[in-house]
Amino acid sequence: MNAPFQEIPGAGGGQGIVNGLSVDVEDWFQVGAFENVIARDEWDSIKTRVEDNVYRVIDLFAEADVSATFFTLGWVAKRHPAMIRRIVDAGHEIASHGYDHARVFTFTRAQFAEDIRKARAIIEDCAGVPVTGYRAPSFSIDQRTPWAFAELAEQGYAYSSSVAPVVHDHYGWPEAPRFAFRPLAGSSLIELPVTTAMLGGRRVAAGGGGFFRVLPYAFSRWAIRQVNRDEGRPAVFYFHPWEVDPGQPRVGHAPLRSRFRHYTGLSKMAGKLGDLVQDFRWGRMDLVAHRERARAEDLVLPPLELGLQAEVEAAE
Ligand SMILES: [Zn+2]
Repeated sequence: MNAPFQEIPGAGGGQGIVNGLSVDVEDWFQVGAFENVIARDEWDSIKTRVEDNVYRVIDLFAEADVSATFFTLGWVAKRHPAMIRRIVDAGHEIASHGYDHARVFTFTRAQFAEDIRKARAIIEDCAGVPVTGYRAPSFSIDQRTPWAFAELAEQGYAYSSSVAPVVHDHYGWPEAPRFAFRPLAGSSLIELPVTTAMLGGRRVAAGGGGFFRVLPYAFSRWAIRQVNRDEGRPAVFYFHPWEVDPGQPRVGHAPLRSRFRHYTGLSKMAGKLGDLVQDFRWGRMDLVAHRERARAEDLVLPPLELGLQAEVEAAE
């Protein structure tokens, strides 16, 4: 372990809050935006850029002296074991992003169990340290996957950061709590949802993704300040290594909206991230999970029961 739980001096009020900084480690061609134009069986024939991009991110973090969590695909870890060791040696947390970016709601529970088991075994083998955190590809744990948290708990994960508690066209679980919650009675597993801010009484995505590149940085700064200062909670922010790579190949035959989302703002991304890591305190997700565990609320409407009821009704 790389002493992730060191106390930050000057803790107290919004000043002492450590926000969760995370990187979803996948290559430029493995994203949801291109899943209908680049098939999984083509992946091995495409020139990889993930390693150079991850090293760029590690350098950016080193300059700002921050630690983060790298949620990594098993598929990527298998092909880049030296990169995994370098992430760990730099003091960052290595965690799982599943095996090959299949979304959780496309699995049965048994398939999900196999996916997370396989990814973790590969990542731990490369890293030489235990993996205790999981992030679902495309935040795909929602009301359709009542068994997902139970499976994560059964496999011994300490935390998940797999829920986007917001309305979105590709993902989202708008009824989920906005901050840390315990999805299972009698289990210490906690979920750390990606950050939303309140704007005009509505939840808006404020924890990374395309909007961070598309909108001016001032919006993100305002949103994270609101969460830290007014709500007194840590933000959870994520981005991808390909977002700091303006030179990546262009997929011309992808739908216009996918291309817009993927390519807008790439050249400014590194500069924005530089501002972001300077303006707030950041740390590994396992540190945030550790600190938030005591404050996590119980999920008021257990999705497990709701989901199971729906299944029972469907079976009748
Ligand atoms: Zn991803």
